[in-house]
Amino acid sequence: MNILLVEDDAVLSNGLSLALQQNGYTLITTDSGQYALQLLELEDFDLLILDLGLPDMDGMQILRSIRHKKIALPVLILTARDDVNDRIEGINQGADDYLTKPFDLGELEARIHALIRRCYSGFSDQIHVGQLELNTQNHEITANGQHINLSARELALLEILILQTGKVVCKDRISQRLAASGEALADNAIEVAIHRLRKRIEPYQAEIKTVRGLGYLLEAQS
Ligand code: CA
Repeated sequence: MNILLVEDDAVLSNGLSLALQQNGYTLITTDSGQYALQLLELEDFDLLILDLGLPDMDGMQILRSIRHKKIALPVLILTARDDVNDRIEGINQGADDYLTKPFDLGELEARIHALIRRCYSGFSDQIHVGQLELNTQNHEITANGQHINLSARELALLEILILQTGKVVCKDRISQRLAASGEALADNAIEVAIHRLRKRIEPYQAEIKTVRGLGYLLEAQS
């Protein structure tokens, strides 16, 4: 899971990054609204945590801009603005959740899980493909209740594909995501990694198909 955190309070930003990384999330942080907008155009994130009071622009402008461009990722506003009118505006402009500072870390994590559940796994904490199951809270992969031991790279790769089950994921996206989780690979190395992962998950009725010229597709084996 790849999260973009836009926050100009360095202490808060560092603390949050650390806590969320410990929970298995990949974090990219910035204190600049302009840079955040560029990142959101170039890269693919699973969730945006957005402060409103930023040095170079209002976070609400970022929200408006991405919704105008039909960038569909879930957005959680994290702000000191606790006026009900700000909350209403945030939700109306396309935020999925709104949490005011000071906040409890446990509550923020619970809200992140809820958003991910709602947006990616049909209101469940588990995503199933064949006999494989990804727990989106602890990022564990199991099959029939048994833990499957995968390398960090295999796990990162499988998570990218599972979140898009049934859809083709292009190589560029895979490469971007792997780089964000510290597992950067060259194009031909991605092919090798996919090949190995395909073998690893075959016994669990899950299949990675190559869609020539487009990318890879994870499906349950029929
Ligand atoms: Ca701020």
